[in-house]
Amino acid sequence: MTSESARPPKVVIVGGGFAGFQAARSLAKRMGDDVDIVLVSPTNYFLYLPLLPEVASGILEPRRISVALAAALPPCVRHAPGEVDELDLDDQRIGWLDPEGVHHATSWDRLVIAAGSVHKVLPVPGVTEYAQGFRGVPEALYLRDHLIRQVELAAVCDDPDERAARLTTVVVGGGYTGTEVTAQGFLFTQELARSRGLSEVPRWVLVSRGEILAGLAGHLSRTADRVLRDRGVDVRTHEEVEEATGDGVRLSSSGEHIPTRTLLWCVGVRPDPLIDDLGVEVEQGRMVTDTELRVSGHPHVFACGDAAAVPDRARPGQYTAMTAQHAERQGRLAGRNVAASLGRGRVRKYKHRDLGFVVDLGGFDAAANPLGVRLTGKPAHVVARGYHLMAMPGNRVRTAVDWLLDALLPRQTAQLGLVRSPSVPLDSASPEVPQHGLGFPHAAPPGASQSSRERPGGSAEAASPDASSGDASGGAASVGASSRRGAR
Ligand SMILES: Cc1cc2nc3c(=O)[nH]c(=O)nc-3n(C[C@H](O)[C@H](O)[C@H](O)COP(=O)(O)OP(=O)(O)OC[C@H]3O[C@@H](n4cnc5c(N)ncnc54)[C@H](O)[C@@H]3O)c2cc1C
Repeated sequence: MTSESARPPKVVIVGGGFAGFQAARSLAKRMGDDVDIVLVSPTNYFLYLPLLPEVASGILEPRRISVALAAALPPCVRHAPGEVDELDLDDQRIGWLDPEGVHHATSWDRLVIAAGSVHKVLPVPGVTEYAQGFRGVPEALYLRDHLIRQVELAAVCDDPDERAARLTTVVVGGGYTGTEVTAQGFLFTQELARSRGLSEVPRWVLVSRGEILAGLAGHLSRTADRVLRDRGVDVRTHEEVEEATGDGVRLSSSGEHIPTRTLLWCVGVRPDPLIDDLGVEVEQGRMVTDTELRVSGHPHVFACGDAAAVPDRARPGQYTAMTAQHAERQGRLAGRNVAASLGRGRVRKYKHRDLGFVVDLGGFDAAANPLGVRLTGKPAHVVARGYHLMAMPGNRVRTAVDWLLDALLPRQTAQLGLVRSPSVPLDSASPEVPQHGLGFPHAAPPGASQSSRERPGGSAEAASPDASSGDASGGAASVGASSRRGAR
């Protein structure tokens, strides 16, 4: 029988995204069975977020970018399905709620916090009611169905104003999410409209407070802006949405009202709310760490990825950006430094200079600057796809086959309706998981009129009888922001 003192140290990792996944892999590689690794995450997969716009536009099936943790991580990593709702950094305890609502708790010797980020919702009237976010598979699947539905309803609509509104999509936010969703979505709806016999070209409006891709190199920003405008996207830079209503949005500088049934909110992210109440030093909501990724004042707690404010040694005085590149590398280092703190190997400091960025703009358009080399068009497209294939921890062949099929065949446009609008509220704290049973700002009491439950554009499914029952979840449930705010 193993004595208590002889038990292997327990390392709990919160989150199975870029940072958490790599932390688990790197720690397991260094320590194997000499450590008990528990990874707590609400989903049993790692989500390759940069390709999410391709799921929404029907190029990739959702499972391509969802790599099962059990398949990609060594067997010594145990996945505990659930969402952490209790963290005590002093008593070294952690608790989580599993998908069936059962609470679990355990102690830890080392903790890695890699909980990522969630939607940033600004206090703009109507946004939480009428906009949709874009951060998880449910949201991408919902959007895909919604776009198909709008085009199909437009095709049978005699009212020209309603038809125009259904064929208009407004995307707020000119970062990589908003830009790539617009680029892919425009081409998708254009093809859809053609296939449904519509003569109008769907309208996409991209509203951005600054330039498109403002945080990235000028070459990427300029290329994306040019490609979108050349295609016919209505790009509104230095503009904001002042109000969202059931029938459209109002822009702030001109006061212009744009009738639409589809409002996408991609204004950026903020760290996961789990961090809010931990009582640690934060910088813009991210946990401040030292260059070894240790959380200030808690030598046994490491943080990495979007949830962590890590000093950027390549840009002194600043913190590393919230990108997949940093999250992945910080995760790897966190695993290494946890192992070092347990006596295996040497501690290293974090330093990473960007190796470049790729922006896929759909079709054969892309922009890339690998190692500072400026590429556009087909060469950038090839580099972007090659980069994604290399960066994905699994499903590469399936992804490549989907790309090949997409180049040869028309897209599949069946609307399965598996994700209903109440399952993807914008204020969701966990956009990876459909929020069944949490209610929705539109949800009306039983018996209320149908129109009061509709999203902008009155998507029929939003008011359908099973919309609030969430029967597509297979019984899954997760804690939302409110219960997580109780985390210590
Ligand atoms: C649509 C989209 C496109 C993007 N494209 C790019 C791109 O092209 N290039 C780029 O560099 N970056 C891109 N990003 C940003 C990049 O994806 C993030 O910077 C990266 O995912 C951060 O990694 P992370 O591990 O910190 O967080 P995530 O990858 O978000 O992982 C967080 C993990 O924590 C889990 N979690 C959260 N809360 C809890 C909790 N309470 N308990 C347990 N688990 C929890 C989540 O379920 C998830 O598994 C994109 C982001 C989006 C949304």
